[in-house]
Amino acid sequence: FGSELDGQVAIVTGASSGIGSATAESLASRGASVVLAARREDELEELAARIESNDGDALVVATDVTNDEDIDNLVETTLDEYGRIDILVNNAGLMPLAHIADADRETLQTTVDVNLTGLITLTHAVVPTMLEQGSGYIVNVSSVVGRFLQPNSSHYNAAKAGVKMFSDSLRLDVAEEGIHVATIEPGAVDTELLDHIPDDELQSNVKNLVGSMDALAPEDIARTITFVVTQPPRVDINEVLIRPLDQV
Ligand code: NDP
Repeated sequence: FGSELDGQVAIVTGASSGIGSATAESLASRGASVVLAARREDELEELAARIESNDGDALVVATDVTNDEDIDNLVETTLDEYGRIDILVNNAGLMPLAHIADADRETLQTTVDVNLTGLITLTHAVVPTMLEQGSGYIVNVSSVVGRFLQPNSSHYNAAKAGVKMFSDSLRLDVAEEGIHVATIEPGAVDTELLDHIPDDELQSNVKNLVGSMDALAPEDIARTITFVVTQPPRVDINEVLIRPLDQV
């Protein structure tokens, strides 16, 4: 275990699988106490046990980022336990790709609620603590599609581009107060993300496309996020676009 993050407290949303789970493990391995937030509590408990068996420190707070009470509970529980929040990794997300004509309204709504509104709401709940501390890192997971378009993705493209605009605009308001804001834009990463594409044929087409690439591992993004939050305070990495070499 390294120690660059000793004494620091990190909230990671979407920590029950994929990028969030790998990021929580990576931050814990550098000494951070990690607060694991997602809906699937069993997966979070398993991850916490793994982190603790490696001498790390983890706290599970079951959280639906679309629920305001859960957001408040996540922040209050973290502050009760640790008294500070140094790093917020807004990673929870889902990508139910669909042609607009085939999508039901709930799919469109949930995509924006989880990927964008939940991220804004949790950031709003955490920023006052970081302002009081005069320091903090907010790392927002957008996507390559926050910058480039893909078909069957209008709602997801909009949400992820919104994350990028939110991050850059937020930075204008908080950078001078010591708060770093970064947007991470992964390309294809091998996780459960594609399992939630509602239409079977579209799901299998997208899986074939991603399967034809040497996709990134969740650990590749975790390492990138850890790099972003372990720089000297004067360094502010604003944006990282990271794709498999063969995703062109
Ligand atoms: P996973 O499906 O493995 O992880 C998604 C995570 O989000 C899960 O932990 C899930 O937990 C959580 N989540 C979903 N809905 C909610 C909710 N309402 N409240 C709280 N947590 C929620 O996929 P990835 O690891 O790939 O995704 C992580 C992020 O990376 C997402 O924002 C995604 O858009 C982004 N991304 C992924 C890419 C990829 O190719 N995989 C590419 C670009 C960006 P639970 O179900 O337990 O709540």
